[in-house]
Amino acid sequence: MAVHTVTMKGRTDPIGVPIPVGKIVCIGRNYVAHIEELKNEKPSSPMFFLKPTTALRRLEDPIRLPAYSKKARHELELAALIGKTLSHCREDEVLAAISGYAVAIDVTLQDVQDKLKEQGHPWEIAKAFDGSCPISPFVPAAQVPNPQDVKIVMRVNGQLRHNDSTALMIYKIPTIVAAASQYFTLEPGDIVLTGTPAGVGSLEPGDTLEMEIQHVGAYTSSVAR
Ligand code: ZN
Repeated sequence: MAVHTVTMKGRTDPIGVPIPVGKIVCIGRNYVAHIEELKNEKPSSPMFFLKPTTALRRLEDPIRLPAYSKKARHELELAALIGKTLSHCREDEVLAAISGYAVAIDVTLQDVQDKLKEQGHPWEIAKAFDGSCPISPFVPAAQVPNPQDVKIVMRVNGQLRHNDSTALMIYKIPTIVAAASQYFTLEPGDIVLTGTPAGVGSLEPGDTLEMEIQHVGAYTSSVAR
């Protein structure tokens, strides 16, 4: 089904024309119920952070949690693949510049991030470490009739965690991407993670994960022991 190809660390996903993956731009705190569950403040403008390409893993490969953390959590997110260069773009230019969508996890080391936040330090080692961005192949954007209204569902060991629609995003996809393009030129092969809905929970060695984003795909994975 898929038509775009992203190459990750020398491997090629079966989605068409190969594009090397560039940067991964993520937005934090983009769903009200998720902000409330973590007792965070609602941001007055989109809050961005980056992951390097070394964070990418195949979604179905077991997640390996680093030894320096004792408390990791999952954030299941709709990922958008940028198909053309965007710099200081307008919101109405965004959807046509997205070439595909994927299912991604923003794996977060909650204990490490809490400590870094307390100290006012950057988050990278909590969110951008190797393997912190498991991601599915991209489906063509045309396969997703309305990316702003798809269900995001995750079960861990059969128990429902995420179960919400992308309609609940505070900043919608055109706003996220246009805003990000004010700071970072987005290039073909860059990936934008659009934030997690409520329902984040811990990841423990041996957990089984079932994930589905409507029109994008259903996948299973696990946490390595
Ligand atoms: Zn996230």
